[in-house]
Amino acid sequence: KKTENQMLVIFGASGDLTARKLIPSLFNLYLAKQLPENFVVLGVSRSDLSDQAFRDRVVYKSDYLKEKTKDLKEGEIKNFADKLFYEDLGDSYDTDYGVLRKRVEQLKEKHNTSGNIIYYLSTPPTLYETIAHNLSDAGMNTQNNGWKRLVVEKPFGYSLETAKKLNKGVHQYFKERQIYRIDHYLGKETVQNLLVTRFSNSIFEPLWNRNYIQHVEITNAESVGVEKRGGYYDKSGALRDMFQNHLLQIVSLVVMEPPIGSDAEEIRNEKVKALKSLRIMTDEKELFENTIRGQYVSSKVGGEKVKGYREEDGVDPNSTTETYAAIKFYVDNWRWHGVPFYVRTAKRMPTKVTEIVIHFKKPHHQIFRGSGMQEMDNKLIVRIQPDEGILIKFGVKVPGQGFKVERANLDFYYSSLAETYVMEAYERLLLDAMQGDATLYARADEVEAAWEFVDPILNYWKSGKDVRMYGYAAGAWGPENADSLIEDDGYWRNPSEN
Ligand code: NAP
Repeated sequence: KKTENQMLVIFGASGDLTARKLIPSLFNLYLAKQLPENFVVLGVSRSDLSDQAFRDRVVYKSDYLKEKTKDLKEGEIKNFADKLFYEDLGDSYDTDYGVLRKRVEQLKEKHNTSGNIIYYLSTPPTLYETIAHNLSDAGMNTQNNGWKRLVVEKPFGYSLETAKKLNKGVHQYFKERQIYRIDHYLGKETVQNLLVTRFSNSIFEPLWNRNYIQHVEITNAESVGVEKRGGYYDKSGALRDMFQNHLLQIVSLVVMEPPIGSDAEEIRNEKVKALKSLRIMTDEKELFENTIRGQYVSSKVGGEKVKGYREEDGVDPNSTTETYAAIKFYVDNWRWHGVPFYVRTAKRMPTKVTEIVIHFKKPHHQIFRGSGMQEMDNKLIVRIQPDEGILIKFGVKVPGQGFKVERANLDFYYSSLAETYVMEAYERLLLDAMQGDATLYARADEVEAAWEFVDPILNYWKSGKDVRMYGYAAGAWGPENADSLIEDDGYWRNPSEN
């Protein structure tokens, strides 16, 4: 695909995300010759920085580019750094963007970038609507001299109500097809590969339904705690931070019906339908039985004592914010009727892993009794991180007399495609936005459908009624009570299991 000449205007350019992800991703695109011929980045925020100071910060003195630039010639680095500029907004993002507009026009003329512009909002979310509004007031959203796109970072809303309000607010100034809501999980190769696995093979899809699938398990585990983000995390929690966005996006790709084509709208239409078919839990008994939350408590990890969540900097010592969430739910449609989904996400787990496990039903008539096969089900494991790949677990005969069955693996790892360059999530997403492909971005109705499912759980947890906050030792697989959630279908898979 061709990437047209354009300008990328990053709001919040003095921040962490710009230095850690956005600029390094652009740098990789530059090295891979994926940037358009005429292209500049204009960083915008309140900090007082010159173009040179900005370049120093995000390129020359950046820890995040050190590795990438160490074997490069100075000229190569400079060619990239020279594409970066900076404009300071003064004291507030809520101001007249007249000066900014002038700067954008100057850069456009000088570098021949055409009127195509991406506005990337990498500020606190409270500013998204304000920035859209001020861009509009300054006439910077008009498309008569080139397209204008708005990329919006997560989190998108804090609840169904706030997400709707934000959509409505931004829609006053930008049309839905101009808006790109980032969910960096969708930029991951294995997440996209779910679509290919399901819809370009004839061996999986016929089994992908209630007739053959016993249950679906999705785990997102992080080994770290809240690190320096305690203040932010305490207002958010596992359900908002991971489940509402990344995990429900994954769920929608597992659940969705085959789209009629690979066009962004066709795929997103099916994803919305999938999200709308999740059974919303409203009944307190149902919520009590199907949701578990927890917080890590101080423990020794690798011989070192780590803090409990409530002792972390920025966290309220009486906090009721969950760092562990496990939810069991059903999908009310023809394909998935009666198949339970178990999804868990947590911090301070024994390892960092994200994976989907499709558990197939056992054969309805067991021939090889006492052979070891009874306890085994066939599993399809999609590993999203680390060791991205796909694994199928099935039974094979152990050589020798009788019919002893043992589990074997068929596997594929992305790392085995060594010669193929696997783009990082942000790289892929930035390039897609630059090319106007919104397939991997969340649409307004998708985000709202996800909140619709999550809202009652959050409200129930907030109500405090019968809701327990279970403690779990940092470095353990979550509270023991979460085991009972899944016990009808076995136990949570420990991802280091073979
Ligand atoms: P950040 O460093 O906290 O903020 C980015 C910039 O926004 C700051 O440098 C600051 O620049 C400006 N800003 C304006 N008003 C602010 C305020 N009241 N408090 C703090 N900063 C303010 O954020 P970030 O980590 O770069 O993340 C940017 C966005 O991406 C956020 O919406 C975040 O939720 C999202 N996000 C971040 C990550 C990540 O890993 N960092 C991951 C996913 C999503 P000036 O003071 O110079 O104006």
